[in-house]
Amino acid sequence: MTRYVTTIDLRRCVGCQTCTAACKHANATPPGIQWRRVLDLETGEFPDVRRTFLPMACMHCGNPPCEEVCPTKATTKRADGLVAIDYDLCIGCANCVMACPYDARSIVHASHYAYGDQPL
Ligand code: SF4
Ligand code: SF4
Repeated sequence: MTRYVTTIDLRRCVGCQTCTAACKHANATPPGIQWRRVLDLETGEFPDVRRTFLPMACMHCGNPPCEEVCPTKATTKRADGLVAIDYDLCIGCANCVMACPYDARSIVHASHYAYGDQPL
């Protein structure tokens, strides 16, 4: 069985946020909702400081906490490794939002897209 993964070479990421914009455009997520974020991290103490860009999205965890807490089985891990949501089963309890250690889940309670009332 194929197992899907996404790889990111952090040495090559320059924090341009183009992936953030592309995800926003492709999925028409509502204002304030970002399925893809790039963290801009500064570490160390002057003058020995370092700036790191860290792209963040759903990690499709091997043992997803969001699946474990979902009372309706709306969230499931598929055999190909992807974590999927069945919107018809979701009751909007937000358990998954609280359980996700990567802050990858978000919840909205109305069909509201970035470019109007319909997805692209
Ligand atoms: S939503 Fe969070 S907990 Fe669930 S698979 Fe994605 S990263 Fe893991
Ligand atoms: S909000 Fe939906 S997907 Fe998340 S835990 Fe509740 S029922 Fe499951």
